[in-house]
Amino acid sequence: MAERKETESRKLLGRLRDAMASDDPGQERLNKITHLIADSIGTEVCSIYLFRDSETLELCATEGLNAESVHQTRMKLGEGLVGRVASKRHVINTPDAPSQAGFRYMPETGEEIYSSFLGIPVQRLGSALGVLVVQSKDAREFSADEIYALEVVAMVLAEMTELGAFVGEGAAMSALHSQPALLRGTIAQEGVAEGHIWLHEPRVVVTNPVADDPHRELERLSTAVEELRVGVDKMMEMAGDGEQRQVLEAYRMFANSKGWMRRMQEDIGRGLSAEAAVDKEQSIARARMEQVTDNYLRERLSDLDDLSNRLLRILTGQGKDTGAEMPIDPILVASNIGPAELLEYGRALKGIILEKGSVGSHAAIVARALAIPLIVHVDKITTEALNGDHVMVDGEQGLVHLRPDETVVSAFRDKIAMEAEAQQRYASIRDKPAETLCGTTIQLHMNAGLMADLPSLENSGAEGVGLFRTELQFLVRSQMPKRSELSALYTRVLDAAQGKPVVFRTLDIGSDKVLPYMKPNDEPNPALGWRAIRVGLDKPGVMRMQLQALIRAANGRPLTVMFPFVAQYEEYTLARAEMDRTLAREAKLGHVLPETVKIGAMLETPSLGFAPRKFFQEVDFLSIGGNDLKQFFFAADRENERVRKRYDTLNVSFLSFLEQIVERCVETDTPVSFCGEDAGRPVEALCFAAIGLRSLSMRPASVGPIKSLLRRSNLQDVRKVIFDARHRGEMSVRPAIMKYLSENA
Ligand code: PEP
Ligand code: MG
Repeated sequence: MAERKETESRKLLGRLRDAMASDDPGQERLNKITHLIADSIGTEVCSIYLFRDSETLELCATEGLNAESVHQTRMKLGEGLVGRVASKRHVINTPDAPSQAGFRYMPETGEEIYSSFLGIPVQRLGSALGVLVVQSKDAREFSADEIYALEVVAMVLAEMTELGAFVGEGAAMSALHSQPALLRGTIAQEGVAEGHIWLHEPRVVVTNPVADDPHRELERLSTAVEELRVGVDKMMEMAGDGEQRQVLEAYRMFANSKGWMRRMQEDIGRGLSAEAAVDKEQSIARARMEQVTDNYLRERLSDLDDLSNRLLRILTGQGKDTGAEMPIDPILVASNIGPAELLEYGRALKGIILEKGSVGSHAAIVARALAIPLIVHVDKITTEALNGDHVMVDGEQGLVHLRPDETVVSAFRDKIAMEAEAQQRYASIRDKPAETLCGTTIQLHMNAGLMADLPSLENSGAEGVGLFRTELQFLVRSQMPKRSELSALYTRVLDAAQGKPVVFRTLDIGSDKVLPYMKPNDEPNPALGWRAIRVGLDKPGVMRMQLQALIRAANGRPLTVMFPFVAQYEEYTLARAEMDRTLAREAKLGHVLPETVKIGAMLETPSLGFAPRKFFQEVDFLSIGGNDLKQFFFAADRENERVRKRYDTLNVSFLSFLEQIVERCVETDTPVSFCGEDAGRPVEALCFAAIGLRSLSMRPASVGPIKSLLRRSNLQDVRKVIFDARHRGEMSVRPAIMKYLSENA
């Protein structure tokens, strides 16, 4: 019995394929298909609805409903039963459609006489493309078997839709991926860019959804799954313990999952090719992923998704390299990307759009270093965008204009031109000091971490590098760099700085920065865990090696080093002692010592702000790591989008705390600087200067705008605005400052 059904299903798919292979125009094909399905399933009605734009479904072909309603009947996503099938991406099967919640009667179709309704989502790689509907007069509920057969058909329809099989004269449908789309995300690096899409991992195209020989397809599937399993086993061998291993364990479990395999085998039995079967199961899993709220389950489904992608690539032979040529103005699109991969692209990229990613990720750090606009959390970008699509990235608003129309293009180009104009203005004050109207000079330095950053030292007008994040060199490699490599690199940094000061921060790993070649620690809360100086002091080997490399690179020039994440006085003393020992050892080995050595600490935990006065006297300088300090001050994870923006940097409590730190530094004559991302935001920078900070370190692109604002400002006035707002008991001084700025522009 089951076999007979399988044969019928295969027969239908075979007829569908023949219809597809004909030279008929797209509309003709659609009409034929609805006829074939209605005939095969034995219903009076079969209709195909496809997305006209991301929100609207359109009746594109029908057997049984009024022919005049084709391309006339439309519904919004979620509207009526058809709209609900598309939005929820699940089947609706009812013998009595009018009694269903959400039912909407479309009089022009003449569907009132049909009682039973079966709607199946047409989806591919997790995105809904349309809905396949069958209806009949008699009040019947469709069997599980009929549903299954139509799901297989829907899969074939999806692949064909994706291939553009229904586009053309008379079809009144434009090809997929041809409409303008506006997508929103979170800004991880500001800036605007125009270019063309370059997919980091190109979409797999399935050109043969229907197959005649199920035995051959089953064999192809099992060979591919075997290859997949071997691949996962190999990864397991290379992985250490901890989280990565856990993920791979889950992969292995899925790769060996009988249920997954059985479903795909059944799909093949019904006439799908092996790749279409994988795609079908992946789409169903993705739809489920969107429904489940349990984090653990979501993660497992996402593992399965990744595994399905691998399997699709094995089956289609479509690796990462498709032979496509990268556009000259590439805007990179990826689900996520690691720092090393991003660095390989380097400055060739004009912009980056990630479906996942996070503001504080390594990729974001690299994008920032390369000054490439980056938007993260852009839902559906990897399925919407195609290689070569025209795109505009608005890193000021967090918007992606995909395939923009003329009005958007011209407005956006105006914006780019204005930005360029502003940059020119900044260039004209590049060699001037950041001196305020009241005669105070603020030193503006830049943050860096890559050799690629160094040219900005000249272009931006920064007076030096206030924070060189040395961990980037460790993060982008697959193995621990050697001392000689590091020393050569630091030498190049100091050479490129041409005498301008560079503050090297020793390795800040742990928390979100996990070295790929170091055993990951299974910590319940890594941001509060074994990180930065804590690792350096407990396992001093790497820190010692790094200090040696720095001393050798200085080679008689001044050297400035700071230790990250110092939470108490003693940690600084111990680290400094390590430096002293290293200096003595280097001298003994005959190396030239630096002309001067300055050793500072990063103030990134509130505790250090309350350290004994002696600490302030002893430390050569302090640098406030505002990113971490703020997250610990407010107990709000800097990586957590939900809480990150909840607390304003210009919150009175935080600003008062910063002011206290500055006062303690003034009292003890300790140089202090601020190097978190907030230093690169003009309004924040202005307030920092007003509360007494005289040195700020920021991303290079911020130096110009901040210098320009400072040169137009009177810090006494700003200070008064802050004090008054505080006096009035306001939560944040921002509204008062914004008002002041708008009145004094
Ligand atoms: C900071 O915490 O503000 C800082 C500059 O360090 P990072 O962002 O690298 O943690
Ligand atoms: Mg930090």
